[in-house]
Amino acid sequence: MASDFPTSARVVVIGGGIVGCSVAYHLTKLGWRDVVLLERKKLTSGTTWHAAGLVRAMLHTVNLTKLAQYTIGLYGSLEKETGQATGFKQNGSISLAVNEERWDELLRGATMAGAFGIAAEPITAKRAQELWPLLNVSDVIGAIHFPNDGQTNPSDTTMALAKGARMGGARIFEDTKVTGVTVKNGRAVGVETEQGAIACEVVVNCAGMWGREVGGMAGVAVPLQACEHFYIVTEPMGVPANLPVMRNMDSCAYYKEDAGKLLIGAFESTAKPWAVDGIPEDFCFTELPEDFDHFEPILSAAIHRVPKLGSVGIRKFFNGPESFTPDQRFLLGEAPNVRGFFVAAGFNSIGIQSGGGAGMALAEWIVGGAPPFDLWDVDIRRMMPHQASKHYLSRRVSEALGLLYAMHWPYRQFETARDVRLSPLHARLKEHGACFGEAAGWERANWYAPKGVEPVYKYSFKRQNWFQYCAEECRAARETVAIFDQTSFAKFVVTGPDAADLLQRLSANDVVGPVGRAVYTQWLNHKGGIEADLTVTRLADDVFLVVTSAASSVRDWTHLQRHVPEHARVDLADVTSAYAVIGVMGPNSRALLSRVTPADLSNAAFPFGACRGIEIASAPVHAIRMSYVGELGWELYIPSEFAVGVFEALMAAREGLGLRLAGMHAMDALRLEKGYRHWGHDIGDEDTPIEAGMGFLCAWNKSPAFIGREALLKQKTQGVAKRLVQFALEDPEPLLYHNEPIYRDGALAGYLSSANYGHTLGRAVAFGYVRNEAGVTADYVNAGKYEIEVAKRRYPARASLTPLYDPKSEKIKG
Ligand SMILES: Cc1cc2nc3c(=O)[nH]c(=O)nc-3n(C[C@H](O)[C@H](O)[C@H](O)COP(=O)(O)OP(=O)(O)OC[C@H]3O[C@@H](n4cnc5c(N)ncnc54)[C@H](O)[C@@H]3O)c2cc1C
Repeated sequence: MASDFPTSARVVVIGGGIVGCSVAYHLTKLGWRDVVLLERKKLTSGTTWHAAGLVRAMLHTVNLTKLAQYTIGLYGSLEKETGQATGFKQNGSISLAVNEERWDELLRGATMAGAFGIAAEPITAKRAQELWPLLNVSDVIGAIHFPNDGQTNPSDTTMALAKGARMGGARIFEDTKVTGVTVKNGRAVGVETEQGAIACEVVVNCAGMWGREVGGMAGVAVPLQACEHFYIVTEPMGVPANLPVMRNMDSCAYYKEDAGKLLIGAFESTAKPWAVDGIPEDFCFTELPEDFDHFEPILSAAIHRVPKLGSVGIRKFFNGPESFTPDQRFLLGEAPNVRGFFVAAGFNSIGIQSGGGAGMALAEWIVGGAPPFDLWDVDIRRMMPHQASKHYLSRRVSEALGLLYAMHWPYRQFETARDVRLSPLHARLKEHGACFGEAAGWERANWYAPKGVEPVYKYSFKRQNWFQYCAEECRAARETVAIFDQTSFAKFVVTGPDAADLLQRLSANDVVGPVGRAVYTQWLNHKGGIEADLTVTRLADDVFLVVTSAASSVRDWTHLQRHVPEHARVDLADVTSAYAVIGVMGPNSRALLSRVTPADLSNAAFPFGACRGIEIASAPVHAIRMSYVGELGWELYIPSEFAVGVFEALMAAREGLGLRLAGMHAMDALRLEKGYRHWGHDIGDEDTPIEAGMGFLCAWNKSPAFIGREALLKQKTQGVAKRLVQFALEDPEPLLYHNEPIYRDGALAGYLSSANYGHTLGRAVAFGYVRNEAGVTADYVNAGKYEIEVAKRRYPARASLTPLYDPKSEKIKG
């Protein structure tokens, strides 16, 4: 063991790529000096050294864009700070459209950029050619110019971060492989290395494509898998150093200047997973064998786009591995099941551009004990454990790589690693024409094709092929009755003498009423931000059922577990797989259910918010009178093995009641009309119930008081600088998705958090926060004239603080 090798440190960072060095650098900036970074071989020797180094200013969400902008600022100043050159330059980028659909997508993206404060200018083909003289624009419709994008030298930038980290006190050890992570009582307390053990408070897994393996050392699922990733570099062709990066996504390629040559990289639609059975031990600055057949289609298209390539030789054919994740977004944050074990890995070929911001955000998360802002899009808690399986990953990542440049269609579904997690009703729904989508690894019916129609998506930014079927499903829920399969809900049972106190402290609403009562509530953090949005049902004196969405199941379970006080008499059980859930919704729901159960479903016997044990077709069912679509309805919690029987009984009883099976797209459209928020879009850990217009759901005077109460009381007196508002376009034609900018009296005031077409209202409906530093009151909202911008065109919109559909909630109580 080297004499200076530590036996303890406050934090150990595993991996000396750009991400590990950035985390170490930022930890020292926050005053943590006892930082040790361990690299199995040499700094940058994993994926970082061979990256192309493209750095973009805009990503798909506002907070990821914040990270990217931070990265640009950091890379621009690192050389001055550390004396180590980075090669960073802001030469801008242009993205080409060679068909109308791509142009629509790019214009929507440029519109979104405006809302995020990013310069993105639509330009003509002629202007694109002026900026990029080698370009063949014969088939180019238009382009977007991003003047603030740039490129950097990945190795030099990493070395600058490492130098900065050392200047801040961090110690970096190369040729030191971590061979184990020590976990005690659910907390990471040290690492084992080839040089000896190091005890520590925090372990950070920045091991790139080794991230899954290193996660495994701590028993943490880190779903990522390496794929081969290709580029070529031409012979010198006099390319000027200030040439912008150019992307032609329809040919799956990017082009950048590289010391007078052109580097052309590929995001082909079907990628090649690499080292599925393990990465070779001696991997260090390793190149993978070239595969010309695989790259050839990219090259042929490149010669069309840049004709001069036809007469220039290829100097370098490069193939290197990079890690990809099941949803093409990186993995950041503290592991749900091991405290003090943090992850920043799986960068899906944007690790250079994300490295600066991700390092900053994770360092703040480690030091502050919570995400510094809403990072849900990349939070590792969104992943389901089964998604780390080799079988699942090796199929999924072959698709993930290409999706970076594929059309970002609304409602686009993954095609690989499907049919993995199925509701007991799956086969039945399929027989009835269900078209499935995937959410949190679950297959869910999104819409139903009528007889003779293939249940397959035909994507477009305009009305997609299922639009009309979804309209009919919505109409059934509003006018007759619809059945939804809501089995993917996560369900937790909280039991014990201290269960009521625990849930009362977590929940903003009063959840400890009489047995048989279900309550909709939020769980808040100490700042009043909404950590979770769920229902709590009292099944018995000390037995509660917590129901939350599939996507946030791991997160909410972790939140629940971590708040159980030591020595509390509480048991927690995740019973998600034990129950299927059928939602029976609509004015005829009572009539339908009455045909299959002897239970009294009248308002007097079964009011809104009640939960009763009833029987349906020999099955014992917990029926809860709740609705996420805003209609009279029941959610039926059925032991899984009885689910098909209950479904068949309902279908058999439907005569004359106008029953339709309805999917998740209809549910989303209906909830938006009714003004029901969606956690992860309309509400999240940076939004409080006051800002979200849900203050009425807070039980201010209950005991014990709920977490976040103090912060909310302060906000109540001080006022808010943003307010969630419901919008409906005046024009029934345009479609909204999310992130479209909101204009108030002609000035940018925010962007949409979620949107869909409201078939009952006959127009697009949406939510979005209206922001104003000086304060947002109801009067301020109501006094404004609003427009929503879609693909660079503004459309007048009606704004409302009360639901646009059934504002008095007469339907659900009917
Ligand atoms: C061809 C290609 C082009 C690319 N182009 C771009 C681009 O233009 N822009 C962009 O943003 N991104 C690009 N990328 C992606 C980018 O390179 C990666 O996302 C980024 O380098 C990932 O950095 P990292 O630090 O997570 O991983 P790595 O650089 O792989 O670092 C992880 C480190 O952990 C070490 N390690 C692993 N296990 C252990 C252990 N047990 N103990 C100690 N150390 C360990 C490894 O040796 C490795 O050095 C490209 C990738 C490729 C392959």
